[in-house]
Amino acid sequence: MITTSSWTTTKSEEIFQTAQNLMPGGVSSPVRAFKSVGGQPIVFDRVKGAYVWDVDGNQYIDYVGTWGPAICGHTHPEVICALHEALEKGTSFGAPSALENVLASMVIEAVPSIDMVRFVNSGTEACMAVIRLMRAFTGRDKIIKFSGCYHGHADMLLVQAGSGVATLGLPDSPGVPKSATASTLTAIYNDLESVKSLFEANPDSIAGVILEPVVGNSGFVPPDAGFLEGLRLITQEHGALLVFDEVMTGFRIAYGGAQEKFGVTPDLTTLGKVIGGGLPVGAYGGRQDIMSMVAPAGPMYQAGTLSGNPLAMTAGIKTLELLQKPGTYEQLDKITKKLSEGLLQIAKETGHPACGGQISAMFGMFFTVGPVRNYDDAKKSDLAKFSRFHRGMLERGIYLAPSQFEAGFTSLAHTDEDIDRTLEAAREVMSGI
Ligand SMILES: *Cc1c(COP(=O)(O)O)cnc(C)c1O
Repeated sequence: MITTSSWTTTKSEEIFQTAQNLMPGGVSSPVRAFKSVGGQPIVFDRVKGAYVWDVDGNQYIDYVGTWGPAICGHTHPEVICALHEALEKGTSFGAPSALENVLASMVIEAVPSIDMVRFVNSGTEACMAVIRLMRAFTGRDKIIKFSGCYHGHADMLLVQAGSGVATLGLPDSPGVPKSATASTLTAIYNDLESVKSLFEANPDSIAGVILEPVVGNSGFVPPDAGFLEGLRLITQEHGALLVFDEVMTGFRIAYGGAQEKFGVTPDLTTLGKVIGGGLPVGAYGGRQDIMSMVAPAGPMYQAGTLSGNPLAMTAGIKTLELLQKPGTYEQLDKITKKLSEGLLQIAKETGHPACGGQISAMFGMFFTVGPVRNYDDAKKSDLAKFSRFHRGMLERGIYLAPSQFEAGFTSLAHTDEDIDRTLEAAREVMSGI
């Protein structure tokens, strides 16, 4: 049934070749270029449900879901229908609209930490603003992030690993001044001691801690039991804020995000991806006393021409409505568990050291014995093997994230049959790599 003989990508290659001269690396966002897995990316033509089609007419089962937003499946008819109606009324207002109240109310009701919310246009923007807010509220400059956690591309957050726990962060990218990251301290995920020692070394100067409550940006790395609770305690002890970056996990790990799932309530939360239903949206929110600092209620400036955009609000509202239906998260968990357990079983049977897991509609598998508890562990993965696996799956019509260090996503549109086909392909590929 699965065959690679008909797989040709001539048009993708042509288009991507042309793109090289038009945009840096031929893309609008780096990971899309497939650099970390080698080979050429496929160029998309259209998406529907659990599937994507490339410009050569090949169909793939999609486990990227436009990096998270497509949790109801691509181009869900109800979302599309609502967008058609909204489109007739205008594409941008730059003025208050009732739609913002609707989505804001839904977010506030769903996410335990959020009493008030501000909409922005991307996850990057949300994280950038939330750092400013942490600093404005506490009057402190330093922040703690974890190596391997991604919070968008703002200067002060472009600090990853490499530098030791106690050292001040050095920028990951040219163009980021040292001064921009000098106040960013880096800790080790799932290591409370690394956080405690930073607080002890920097008394009364740390505004707060930001993290992915379940990591998706160094592959799928869940928090150890007690890790999130420990962070809650440490931050409270030191008068610092705890921020969950739920841009990926919000409305995916559970309707109320990782904070609902794990029962730990941060002070502030960032959102993105799912809440835009496939249109550009980000948001940050939290305790009323903190959010009241944001302009024009308070002095912390932050603004946006397209923020609260009516089309984006509409897609977000419809998507959340679909997710509210009974049984959605059970279905997501069931289908994703089948996939995750199946992949690990096949790896075992075909003799590949591997580890991984899933929560709700988020999963990952590393080609290493594991366990993977942080970024350093993740980096022990066999990246060459992952590249061969990725290419083999692509050739068999399975679209996986083109990096070992990205989580995978399922949707309400993925069927048992899709998972069976995926596992069948995985068995073939793993037998040959
Ligand atoms: C994707 C992501 C971001 C950045 O969001 P963009 O919309 O790409 O700017 C920030 N934080 C996390 C956890 C993310 O997964």
